[in-house]
Amino acid sequence: MNLKDVKAVKELLSVPQKIAIIPHKNPDGDAIGSTLALWHYLKNRGQEATIVSPNDYPKFLKWMPGNEHILNFETKNSQALSAINEATLIFTLDFNHFGRTGQLAPILEASKAKYIMIDHHQSPADYAEITYSDVAMSSTCEMVYNFIEFLGDTDKVTSEMANCIYTGIMTDTGSFKFHATTSQTHRIVADLIDKGAEKTAIHNHIYDTNSPSRLHLLGCALKNMVILEEFRTAYITLSQEELDAYNYQKGDTEGFVNYGLTLEGISFAVIFIENKEEGIIKISFRSQGDFSVNEFARSHFNGGGHDNAAGGRSEVSMEKTAKYFVSLLKDYKDKLIA
Ligand code: 5GP
Ligand code: MN
Repeated sequence: MNLKDVKAVKELLSVPQKIAIIPHKNPDGDAIGSTLALWHYLKNRGQEATIVSPNDYPKFLKWMPGNEHILNFETKNSQALSAINEATLIFTLDFNHFGRTGQLAPILEASKAKYIMIDHHQSPADYAEITYSDVAMSSTCEMVYNFIEFLGDTDKVTSEMANCIYTGIMTDTGSFKFHATTSQTHRIVADLIDKGAEKTAIHNHIYDTNSPSRLHLLGCALKNMVILEEFRTAYITLSQEELDAYNYQKGDTEGFVNYGLTLEGISFAVIFIENKEEGIIKISFRSQGDFSVNEFARSHFNGGGHDNAAGGRSEVSMEKTAKYFVSLLKDYKDKLIA
């Protein structure tokens, strides 16, 4: 954010506002961590603020302080709708265009509120009065910390906020190892620990709450993995039938896609997950090195994301989707084996 933006934010927050805070659909650790941290900060400044999530999210994120105040648009519809419709100021966090909020998109589109976007995805849409967009950032959580710093308030970061921000940085950086993790990320994380982030407990909450059925589903996914050495690619399919057989719960497939990248010589990993209810195959793409999965997802699977982590969807059967995917690879061979 430049000085002009910082001044504009200070002015907006110098008077009482009705604030709505919105993460993307299927919110992850960064989306929930960043919205909750900002919510605590704004409440502590005396502002009225409400988080509206477009839909539900995994149980392993629900321990975060303030979680019980998040309104799920699907289950608390009228309250959520009022919070958005009455808002004078709306923060949108961890996404780059309204389309990423699913059913909330037309409601946000129609709102007369002022918008502040805080996000690290490529190609931010131009709807906000203040756009704090930085694709080099590890996470939106790191940006929320910066946002508070721009306002001169890091001394007001509480242990609740520190726990939320730490969580999002940890989940979006693959526990501090992805490319976008900088020395500055670590400085911020160090400060968060000083301010009360409980690092061991956070790791346990996120990574050590497996159910036996999730581990069995992982076994099924790994068995289904197809390795295409000539394209340095590995992909996994999970059908609705398989998900049902292992009592799939939201969040159970989180992280499965990364296993492909742990194979020596593999730089492109994909998982296709059938969702019969929505009539789609949800796809996650991951890469190591220069191959941009953001471009790949945008060009062929109606999606997007970051250079090394993106998502998309397909509306044809699993078999056709996988076949189509494999047929695309020959056009990318040079980039994949570079
Ligand atoms: P994941 O594979 O974990 O769902 O998502 C990886 C990254 O891609 C995240 O940054 C997420 O925001 C983005 N992403 C996931 N699905 C979609 C999608 O359908 N469209 C777009 N534009 N981005 C997506
Ligand atoms: Mn993020």
